[in-house]
Amino acid sequence: MAHLSVVGSHMVNGVSALHSDLLVHTIFADFADLWPERFTNMTNGVTPRRWLAQANPGLADLLDQTLGKHWRLDLDQLKGLRAHQADAVFQEKFRAVKLQNKVRLAAYIARTTGITVDPHSLFDVQVKRIHEYKRQLLNVLHVVTRYLAILENPHADWVPRTVIFAGKAASSYHSAKSIIRLIHDVGLVINHDARIGDKLKVVFIPNYGVSVAEVIMPGADLSEQISTAGTEASGTGNMKLALNGALTIGTDDGANIEIREAVGDDNIFIFGLKTPEVRALRLSGYQPMHYYESNPALKAVLNALSEGRFSPEEPGRYRSLVESLPYGGDHYLLLADYASYVATQLRVDSLYRQPVAWSEKAIANVAGMGGFSSDRTIREYAAKIWNVSPLAE
Ligand SMILES: *Cc1c(COP(=O)(O)O)cnc(C)c1O
Repeated sequence: MAHLSVVGSHMVNGVSALHSDLLVHTIFADFADLWPERFTNMTNGVTPRRWLAQANPGLADLLDQTLGKHWRLDLDQLKGLRAHQADAVFQEKFRAVKLQNKVRLAAYIARTTGITVDPHSLFDVQVKRIHEYKRQLLNVLHVVTRYLAILENPHADWVPRTVIFAGKAASSYHSAKSIIRLIHDVGLVINHDARIGDKLKVVFIPNYGVSVAEVIMPGADLSEQISTAGTEASGTGNMKLALNGALTIGTDDGANIEIREAVGDDNIFIFGLKTPEVRALRLSGYQPMHYYESNPALKAVLNALSEGRFSPEEPGRYRSLVESLPYGGDHYLLLADYASYVATQLRVDSLYRQPVAWSEKAIANVAGMGGFSSDRTIREYAAKIWNVSPLAE
């Protein structure tokens, strides 16, 4: 079908720089040799009217006071925030908006799940379709790692964290449904373990859709964009979250790469294998068992999950899901990226302990997101694909 589409199309565009590059150099390399002029890039974008003005009225007000109102139609004006990112008074207002949005999200979580979460904890958010390539299971491995580490060392200075998931799985996608159930089961154990208290909470917000996303995005501190490098065409959730002042923890994948370039290397947490390293590891004969055997923390987590620690009424519930990692080839390389991911999460904690440094980076994220307006994307489609020009105003 993809080959027929290339033959029948006037233009073929990727939706992020990496995606466009992979189209030309991997799956459509032969076509790109034949018709190089047919292939283009138009990086996806999100509309600032929905994802900022409507979803985040508190931040919209602060932007209006600081930059005027025209950012709604010219998102590049957000770069004007750079002049204020180190300003203590502006930072205080920015933090107050974030806290308000977290209080609103906490109330939504209480209403829809019955779980009480602390708005002062770090809100760690992964919201997107449930799919193996997006690696919600890697996030769960980190959650269980943290749970076991808190039990080992309960008096350490843990940064309280609320790990928030939402997303749907295709109805016949059995392993994705199993991941959803696992998140619920892990949450049931952790949220009711009195030894953990407020140090860690896990919630799965039901019925993910655009209206739910509009409540979640403004309340996020940390945006999880952890797909195996080379698998996410672009991502747009990554853009909505950064636009609302979340810091990204992510792989070098899809539009994460362009977000890193836009906000600056110091204002994003990038971890894990890069696309060429993923390819090289697979070609060299990936041995996931090597990671299991050589990393005791990882081994303990996989054993706990596989032995039924989070499903005591049915200990084998997650055996096949979890054993697909060390024994089943681990197609999306969770075990290869695990150590880098967990180490990077510790760097996230260190930064969150410094509210001023965190706020400065969060503001730098908003300031850098002007290029991810869908207005820019649509202008590119109009100019390069549709050959139409705007009507005079
Ligand atoms: C933005 C959005 C997506 C896309 O999220 P990704 O993280 O880019 O996969 C999916 N569903 C909803 C409801 C969204 O708002």
